[in-house]
Amino acid sequence: MCVDASNAELIPRPLSVYVHLPFCHSLCYYCGCTKKITRHPEHGVRYLDQLYREIEMQGALFDRDRAVEQLHFGGGTPTFFDDRQLTELMARLNAHFTLQTSAGREFSIELDPRTMDPDRLVMLQDLGFNRISMGIQDFDPEVQQAVNRIQGQEETLALIDKAKELRLDSISVDLIYGLPLQTEARFRRTLETVIAASPDRLAVYNYAHLPDMFRAQRMINEPDIPSPETKLQLMELTIDMLTDAGYQYIGMDHFARPDDELARARETGNLHRNFQGYSTHRECDLIGLGVSSIGKIGDCFAQNLKTIPTWEAGIEAGELPIWRGLTMSTEDRLRAGIIQSIMCQDGLRYADFEQRFGIDFEEHFAPEVSRLADLEQDGLIEAGETGFTVSPRGRLLLRNIAMVFDEYLNRAAQPQRFSRVI
Ligand code: SF4
Repeated sequence: MCVDASNAELIPRPLSVYVHLPFCHSLCYYCGCTKKITRHPEHGVRYLDQLYREIEMQGALFDRDRAVEQLHFGGGTPTFFDDRQLTELMARLNAHFTLQTSAGREFSIELDPRTMDPDRLVMLQDLGFNRISMGIQDFDPEVQQAVNRIQGQEETLALIDKAKELRLDSISVDLIYGLPLQTEARFRRTLETVIAASPDRLAVYNYAHLPDMFRAQRMINEPDIPSPETKLQLMELTIDMLTDAGYQYIGMDHFARPDDELARARETGNLHRNFQGYSTHRECDLIGLGVSSIGKIGDCFAQNLKTIPTWEAGIEAGELPIWRGLTMSTEDRLRAGIIQSIMCQDGLRYADFEQRFGIDFEEHFAPEVSRLADLEQDGLIEAGETGFTVSPRGRLLLRNIAMVFDEYLNRAAQPQRFSRVI
């Protein structure tokens, strides 16, 4: 029903497609992704066959005048698949969706420098990818040993150089602070190397140790995890070094060069956020393909089955392999809009939501507004009669401010298990 309603909109809403490719050659101990570790390429063949069937099923649901503006291959390690397989996958997507070809498209793929020959970038660019992201986490050899991810600087920097030579629109790298054996001196060296390589964007995540939730993390030696004080120092070091190097803090662990379109969108109030992170595109309908992926069509969320065997069995039965779904209520939409405003516009104007949702903000959100007083005391926001703005300090803790309005999180039995709001 959500799909029919979205197809019927007067101005066709663009599409954003996420494809989950869950295979990796080795296990990184900090990993919380849905993945399968294997060195056997044939394990991916059956997965691709089922993925093609899902592409066909989902593609049939959407009008062809709805262009795919955003495409993201994530994982796992998408480049686990060879050139021929990735070419075939793009051909299948092209056959069942209208992939945008203009320069404004955002087609991105996650790369693993440990297993990726930089020359493969030429093929990926030919397929339409104009953005890449890659995990680095930390270049320090002992930290790498502790998380079982041995990744040479040379191979990583060669990949960045090649992407620059090809003039890709965006090169993004991921780092993590809070990993075992990390110290300020070690992380400083990693930051210096990364800054010298000059990527367009960086995501610097806080490692959340949740071994009950993520089995891989049980391999981490807990006494080696830095103390909360050290983590705070690592966060401050990251912010200082990146801003000194000219990067702008976008929010939620993300940094961008000032000429990057994310930084410009933040300035002009055109920043958006969806499951794939920050974006400059207005709201698309999101289609998730592959095991565990999440889609959002209009007000409806759907998540695919979370293990490869159950996902494959669902498709083999000729059904969309959906595990669970949720239709947003008016209250959900109200809260989602508020969280979006905090994360992308650094604050809230109560009147915006009072008009749109027919509420008296302070009455409707009386418990939340009283919790805002604590945030103000901590210097995270500056509150007034008509709303609040996030302070420079609060911008580093946007997630915590937004959590005040996350009804599901506040209702959860074990809220401490969650490390991310979005
Ligand atoms: S962190 Fe990335 S490469 Fe490492 S196991 Fe997880 S998905 Fe695979």
